[in-house]
Amino acid sequence: MDKTKKKTISLIGIPFDEKSSFLKGCAKAPPLIRESLNSYAINSFAENGVDIRNENIIDRGDFSVKELSDVVNIADKFLRKGDSILALGGDHSITYPLVKACSGYYSGIEILHIDAHPDLYDELAGDRLSHACPFARIMEEKLAARLVQVGIRTINTHQREQAEKFGVETIAMKEFSVSDVPDFSNPVYISVDLDGIDPAFAPGVSHHEPGGLSSRQVVDIIDNINVPVIGGDIVEYNPGRDVSGITSALAAKLVKEILSKMVVNI
Ligand code: MN
Ligand code: MN
Repeated sequence: MDKTKKKTISLIGIPFDEKSSFLKGCAKAPPLIRESLNSYAINSFAENGVDIRNENIIDRGDFSVKELSDVVNIADKFLRKGDSILALGGDHSITYPLVKACSGYYSGIEILHIDAHPDLYDELAGDRLSHACPFARIMEEKLAARLVQVGIRTINTHQREQAEKFGVETIAMKEFSVSDVPDFSNPVYISVDLDGIDPAFAPGVSHHEPGGLSSRQVVDIIDNINVPVIGGDIVEYNPGRDVSGITSALAAKLVKEILSKMVVNI
């Protein structure tokens, strides 16, 4: 592989939790995920054999955000140079501006969304930009061609109607198997809400929802993607709820797996 032709992948931290509906705290996540990622306790190789310490992956640090429109500008700064981006949240509200920015550079984006919750509310407590709403905004504005949601186990009547309206592919947790996740055919954006994973594996989240994915299943779902991954985010890590850094270690593992997937397919 000719490395000189490869794009850069920018890792960006977005310490923003103003749109969290229940608990604040995930604004503190990015430095702690980095600490786990750079810890002497682990090495920098992903399971596909890629060393994420390579010249194509650059950690750009954290960016302070006052409102979500700032996130569009931050992402755009790197996308404009031809970079791909992986963002560390922050709450899930940041996915809407991130996908909005990506949609200016890629057409037909397909989203793999891992979450206990569909995040398809039209509004929550009067806020259409709540962390419970990003995928409603994305689908309304046709920023993505396809939305595949995996790990879902909290869907209610309103969100079921929203999913039908937007043609969302809901892969519910009930009777789930990794082979239920469909293949993708266009560039993929991966959005991982850590509460999609069972709280036994990821206790450091605001909304504990038992009966979720295992760490292994999420790694396998990511590994099965065989089209370019052009962007992504890992959101909703709430350090105040973590136990012995288990969740930050999982977030760091998923950073490695997603970055290595982004590297091999660009
Ligand atoms: Mn969630
Ligand atoms: Mn979410």
